Amino acid sequence: MNEIELKLQKAIDAANSVVVAGHVNPDGDAIGACLAMAACLDKVGKDVVVLLEDYDSKYDVIPGRHYIYQGDYDALTPDLFISLDASTPDRLGKAADVMKRAKATALFDHHLNNSIEADIRIVDTSASSTAIMVYSYIDRRIVIDADIGAAIYAGLIYDTGGFRHRTTTPETLEVAAKLMRAGVQFSKVYSSILFEKSRDKTPLFARALSRVAYAEPEIAYTYITREDMEELRAVGYPDGVVDYMINTNGVNTAVYALQKEEGTEMSLRSRVVNVGELAAKLGGGGHKAAAGFTVKDAPPEAVEMIVKKLQAEQS
Ligand code: 5GP
Ligand code: MN
Repeated sequence: MNEIELKLQKAIDAANSVVVAGHVNPDGDAIGACLAMAACLDKVGKDVVVLLEDYDSKYDVIPGRHYIYQGDYDALTPDLFISLDASTPDRLGKAADVMKRAKATALFDHHLNNSIEADIRIVDTSASSTAIMVYSYIDRRIVIDADIGAAIYAGLIYDTGGFRHRTTTPETLEVAAKLMRAGVQFSKVYSSILFEKSRDKTPLFARALSRVAYAEPEIAYTYITREDMEELRAVGYPDGVVDYMINTNGVNTAVYALQKEEGTEMSLRSRVVNVGELAAKLGGGGHKAAAGFTVKDAPPEAVEMIVKKLQAEQS
């Protein structure tokens, strides 16, 4: 164990109550990392709850939803707060205030430019997921069962796009093999999280794709407005729009804008521009090849703004 790992071990040993939290609009990595960490801490006798916003039912294949706290956040003053997969305080949403009140704080993250303050900071921008970072801790602490394994596996596959992205390493696959040996129903987890489509969201997905436009050099962009949502009586937001676009031939950068009440959420993907750095300049963040941010402007103006910036980066 290195110095930081030892410090974490001591902080966990000293704590009775632990709050584990992931980023807003949680994805497979945030959910998987949080639920795996919570189950591990539960096994070693901690009083643990998880703070995560509501998430899509496809993630119910990840065991441990019962750890998610439904009560009043103001009532939480934990001995230890662990932030997972969040890179900026605002990404923690309401949980950021609980972090401020905690007696001790720790974080695990793999995003660029992590700016969350904590007593123990474990940041590895080369890690393919936060779940694999959490795995290192859990594997030292307990024997990983099929349920905890499934939660870690969910994070691994989500953030590597099913072991496709360049962030995938031999270690990622070695950990996946260990999880398979622990009895994880890998095929079920993989298809639920990465392939399952929702009938309700298909019309909106089609709307987004029908509006895809292209700009030089090799940029594809599209958007969904609140009017689209109303017109199509959509109940949720479709996944995979930006991934569809980046996997289109002749496209090396993709922009997907989703207008919500609070603002327009932008999803960026690129093989040629460091979109993590660009998003950070615009108040968001992420990784080199996948990033996001939110703006007040509505589409299509919001999209035009970012397309211009992406073009300027490549001129
Ligand atoms: P996605 O496009 O899948 O929503 O996000 C891609 C990546 O960018 C993820 O790693 C996500 O955590 C990060 N990201 C997306 N939106 C934001 C944002 O508003 N702020 C920050 N800091 N990161 C974001
Ligand atoms: Mn992640």
